[in-house]
Amino acid sequence: MNFHQGMMMEPASTGVVLKRGIFGQLSEAADAHHSGQIANLIVNCTGLSAGKLGGVEDKSMIPARGQTVLVRNEAIGIVGGSGTDDGDDEVCYVIPRAAGGGTILGGCYQKGNWDSQFDPNLANRIMKRAVELCPSLTDGKGIEHLSVIRHGVGLRPVRLGGTRLEKEKVSGIWVVHNYGHGGYGYQSSYGCSQAAVKLVEKTLALRARL
Ligand SMILES: Cc1cc2nc3c(=O)[nH]c(=O)nc-3n(C[C@H](O)[C@H](O)[C@H](O)COP(=O)(O)OP(=O)(O)OC[C@H]3O[C@@H](n4cnc5c(N)ncnc54)[C@H](O)[C@@H]3O)c2cc1C
Repeated sequence: MNFHQGMMMEPASTGVVLKRGIFGQLSEAADAHHSGQIANLIVNCTGLSAGKLGGVEDKSMIPARGQTVLVRNEAIGIVGGSGTDDGDDEVCYVIPRAAGGGTILGGCYQKGNWDSQFDPNLANRIMKRAVELCPSLTDGKGIEHLSVIRHGVGLRPVRLGGTRLEKEKVSGIWVVHNYGHGGYGYQSSYGCSQAAVKLVEKTLALRARL
């Protein structure tokens, strides 16, 4: 079995084999099996790249750009998740990192925006909103008292129409797709991966009967 997420592996009982690779075509993942034989099945978890990967080219994949500021200042807890007066695609949240190491200030949800560079004006708005919402961050002293560790930009892998969790035959090889989780990929990861494993088992059982 191949797990196509830039890597392939075998079940632990037979010894785990991990390989990394970058594929232009989905079917190339099957050829990269460490046994030298063609893999029975590919699991496609390529996120936003599912829009461009040959053999998938899912045109309903779009980025929803997010931008954050990581600061040293401490917040009392998670605050926000609200809309703002700065436009429909800007939001305000303050999230202390679970294991310490600062607080994340966000953010935005800019559909169709591929820009990987941080926008300093947006960063200022993010910090101003965070301090207004949560003045204790800087003891009420304003954004100049925020101690910035770094700025972050990420592209959420949005699939118009929702996550794709299904099987399909591509170039004669069974593929189980599991991508397009937008801004809820962590929260839904256990459920989606369990559903994907069930699909893999069903597909391999079906293949064995043929
Ligand atoms: C700004 C932002 C905010 C977020 N907020 C939340 C949140 O509040 N809650 C939440 O649950 N989640 C959140 N997420 C996570 C998000 O929801 C994503 O869904 C999740 O990270 C995507 O995981 P994934 O494994 O599908 O894709 P990815 O993490 O992108 O993994 C895709 C993998 O496929 C590999 N790959 C792609 N193309 C190829 C190729 N051609 N060849 C080989 N390998 C390839 C890549 O190397 C990568 O390892 C957020 C993400 C961002 C960016």
